[in-house]
Amino acid sequence: MSYPVVQSNHPLIQHKLTLLRRADTEPKKFRELVRELTWFLAYEALHDLPLADCRVETPMGIMMGKRAAERVGLVPILRAGLGMVDAFLEVLPTCQVWHLGLYRDHKTLEPVSYYNKLPSEATVQVCLILDPMLATGGSAVAACDVLKQWGARKIKFVGLIAAPEGVHRLHQAHPDVDIHVAAVDERLNDIGYIVPGLGDAGDRQFGTG
Ligand code: URA
Repeated sequence: MSYPVVQSNHPLIQHKLTLLRRADTEPKKFRELVRELTWFLAYEALHDLPLADCRVETPMGIMMGKRAAERVGLVPILRAGLGMVDAFLEVLPTCQVWHLGLYRDHKTLEPVSYYNKLPSEATVQVCLILDPMLATGGSAVAACDVLKQWGARKIKFVGLIAAPEGVHRLHQAHPDVDIHVAAVDERLNDIGYIVPGLGDAGDRQFGTG
């Protein structure tokens, strides 16, 4: 089935994602894999980053090079999105980081906001929402709502694994938001976890399972 989502089939991504999914992958290895996978996803999600010409002096002469022409804001959804931040900062160190705290109410499965440190006005041209799991889509939709109220014009969602339900809900609510993930899995279970997925991405990164 096709979804309104960019899903990378690159062999390195699929290989690392399989290691990430394994139930016996320890938190240290899990964090490394999240970081490595995020490098590849960052490369893909930033494929259309606008460039400006700039003069560069090499040891051999002068040429016109390119530099990123837009400011990028990373919006990791606490807490699981934190593991994706460093990889983005490694590939684009000028990114700003704006934390959003949303947790899922276990009864309603709806997002509850508990932390928002966005400044009063948008300071970046592109916002990348970072959350490893696009499950029900509730947090992603809420994050887009907050960012649009803040003044964000261009928003992308970057995650590792999505459920079809989450892709559908985010696309319905915010059709202008590109979705980049490594895989779209089968379904959600009755407590809103992705199947086969990888379990709780926060617990697995931080050893709290
Ligand atoms: N959040 C997770 O960490 N895992 C899921 O499967 C769904 C939501």
